[in-house]
Amino acid sequence: MTFDSPSGARHPAHSAGSALTEIEAAAQTCSLCKLCAARTQVVFGVGRADADLLFVGEGPGEQEDRQGEPFVGRAGQLLTRLIEGMGMTRADVYIANVVKCRPPGNRDPQPDEIAACAPWLDRQLEIIRPRVIVTLGNFATKLLLETKEGITKLRGREFAFARAGLEATLIPTLHPSAVLRSGGKALAESRADFVRVKRALARGA
Ligand code: URA
Repeated sequence: MTFDSPSGARHPAHSAGSALTEIEAAAQTCSLCKLCAARTQVVFGVGRADADLLFVGEGPGEQEDRQGEPFVGRAGQLLTRLIEGMGMTRADVYIANVVKCRPPGNRDPQPDEIAACAPWLDRQLEIIRPRVIVTLGNFATKLLLETKEGITKLRGREFAFARAGLEATLIPTLHPSAVLRSGGKALAESRADFVRVKRALARGA
């Protein structure tokens, strides 16, 4: 994906430098979509700059907007437990979102917002070069697999992800917020997907 800004100008993600810290600094002042108006801060991402495993969620919620870190609310606590269930910690992975600013009232991100924000995620993938990408829920899965198919059809499978020289295994799973809402069966499906993630990591390069 190479989206330029809505005005047609070069997207700042592509002129910000080659280090993750430089891209993050440039993202902090992004005003390419209307989400910038109500945000407390840009929630760029957190974790190892050379992580083998990268998670992509939907967008920051209230807690994340306040603290500047993805997945720190209730859904984040579940994500942390699922990561720990694989014998890893949050410090071992990288966690990002499709949109880096909170949609007001936690509404869904809109297509123009997703398009404006996508180059930031592209640069995160290009620099971190994870071996395994886990998409959490519909928005991340549809964006990275370039599909209209929903998460309930796609989860439970692995996909080859190849873009801009990056080759990775993409594993779609349910969004932790949906798991919290649905409970039992959804939690079992999540756990099964995380077993797949662990196996994919263990397979090596
Ligand atoms: N939900 C998301 O998709 N991302 C977050 O960072 C928090 C909740």
